[in-house]
Amino acid sequence: MSPEAAGGAMIGSYMKTLLLLLWPLAALAADAPAIRIELVTGGHPHEISFYAVFEGNRDFKINVNPHPSAFRSDMRKSTDVLVLYDMADMDGETERRHLREFLEAGKGMVVLHHAVIDNQHWPWWYEEVIGGRYLLAPKGNQRASTYQHDVPMTVRPTGKHPITEGLGGFSIVDEVYNFMWRSPKTRVLLEADQPEGEKAVAWIGPWEKSRVVVIQLGHGQEAHENASYRKLVRNAIVWAAGK
Ligand SMILES: [Zn+2]
Repeated sequence: MSPEAAGGAMIGSYMKTLLLLLWPLAALAADAPAIRIELVTGGHPHEISFYAVFEGNRDFKINVNPHPSAFRSDMRKSTDVLVLYDMADMDGETERRHLREFLEAGKGMVVLHHAVIDNQHWPWWYEEVIGGRYLLAPKGNQRASTYQHDVPMTVRPTGKHPITEGLGGFSIVDEVYNFMWRSPKTRVLLEADQPEGEKAVAWIGPWEKSRVVVIQLGHGQEAHENASYRKLVRNAIVWAAGK
């Protein structure tokens, strides 16, 4: 064997070993497809820091699609999880059908902050799906809901759940909503130490055909940059995706 041929054979065997070592990693990556997320905004201004909440999640494939364009097509094949950060009413029958079909097909949804004010005229939405309603005006014996900015609070998980796993209690300064209606069928995940105000700041909706998570926190930069908030949103998306 010439020195060149011997060198070539050595490089060949080195490459083979390297490939054998890397193959399991490549196979693992191929086995874990990204979570396809449709992120719906619109109807409410927000700070650009909101988008940094999703940074570092290499396993997320996020498409930002403002309201109502997100709901103009059937999302069942293209999307794993719907993440809402819009504030709008959905009154079109086609858009409503697409959202209903998505949730009836077992697809998950995460509702963030002002998106709990969505769909004020759609009882199915606030009673059966998200299990919460922000009342823009008093209704019957219920007073109107209120909001308060820049509230420092400590937030604690109410029990064990994959969404709050490893989160523990954490401090956050954020906007809170008070005097909301919440369905008794919701399961509260996180409570804030607000003596006067609403304690539940994250819950699982009553919807049984798919996984629906509501996180009331998330107004501005202080929340968006909070590492625990980011972890909470990530965990909620992963759980809603059925993982
Ligand atoms: Zn807000």
